[in-house]
Amino acid sequence: MAKIIVVGSASIDLVVTSSKRPGAGETVLGDSFKTVPGGKGANQAVAAARLGANVTMVGRVGDDHYADIILNNFKNNHVSIDYVEPVTHMESGTAHIVLAEGDNSIVVVKAANHEVTPAYIDQSLAAFDDADMVMIQQEIPEETVMHVGRLCKERGIPLLLNPAPARPLPQEVIDNAAYITPNEHEAAILFPDLNVAEALRQYPNKLFITEGSRGVRYFDGNDEVLVPSYKVEAVDTTGAGDTFNAAFAVALAEGKPVYDSVRFANRAASLSVTKFGAQGGMPYREEVEAQL
Ligand code: ADP
Repeated sequence: MAKIIVVGSASIDLVVTSSKRPGAGETVLGDSFKTVPGGKGANQAVAAARLGANVTMVGRVGDDHYADIILNNFKNNHVSIDYVEPVTHMESGTAHIVLAEGDNSIVVVKAANHEVTPAYIDQSLAAFDDADMVMIQQEIPEETVMHVGRLCKERGIPLLLNPAPARPLPQEVIDNAAYITPNEHEAAILFPDLNVAEALRQYPNKLFITEGSRGVRYFDGNDEVLVPSYKVEAVDTTGAGDTFNAAFAVALAEGKPVYDSVRFANRAASLSVTKFGAQGGMPYREEVEAQL
């Protein structure tokens, strides 16, 4: 089993569906309300565990009742929480989501996720022993992403950086990552001076741009490669990127070649969009292998 460490956010999504989005000062009646575990870090950890990796989460929760829901969800999905320490007198991270008029509006409150600091990483160093791969995203402080990049470089552990949500990154972080997986929007923010083809050529076998239902593009050193995605009936694309990243990390950590790893990840991500919810649709290993 590949050992994967996920450094990142763990949150609760508070999801309201409504036929109308409220404007400023307006109150509208909603149709439904759901509380579901989310956060890009947690989503990727759960997906990687379902896909057959030995996963340890390095993150923080608050001392509220959402923390119990987050921790129980990790346990139910066989993600180790030895390095998920509650922050006292603080709330767990939350995302307040309104699904209305065919689109979503989201307010994110970082809360405990903001306490995934470089000092917290230093106190969690043992988590990284024998790791085959470290995964990180950008819902935690930028200095922590930088710090984990250095740590992985020092220890020779491949780092998969999913630069979401989009923000510009210091060159050092890009250099220290082994794999970087933006979607098209994130790639444009990460490499404002390069077009897609130039960016891919600059980072062969390192930059993988996900293009939704089209698939994934990278440069293999000789040619630009598009690994097409699988045709499915898309129900909810939330969490597609998280599933892609987790599956890609698992396959690479197991030693699969790059092209095969992207294919495996595309298959996993395509299955995830056929069901509702970020984690709700994340497939298990057997389901992916049966359909490869
Ligand atoms: P994000 O969710 O981060 O915006 P993408 O939309 O690029 O990222 O999706 C990530 C991956 O999920 C894609 O590369 C593809 O493998 C898969 N995927 C996304 N949407 C679809 C879809 N409609 N049909 C099949 N696969 C999809």
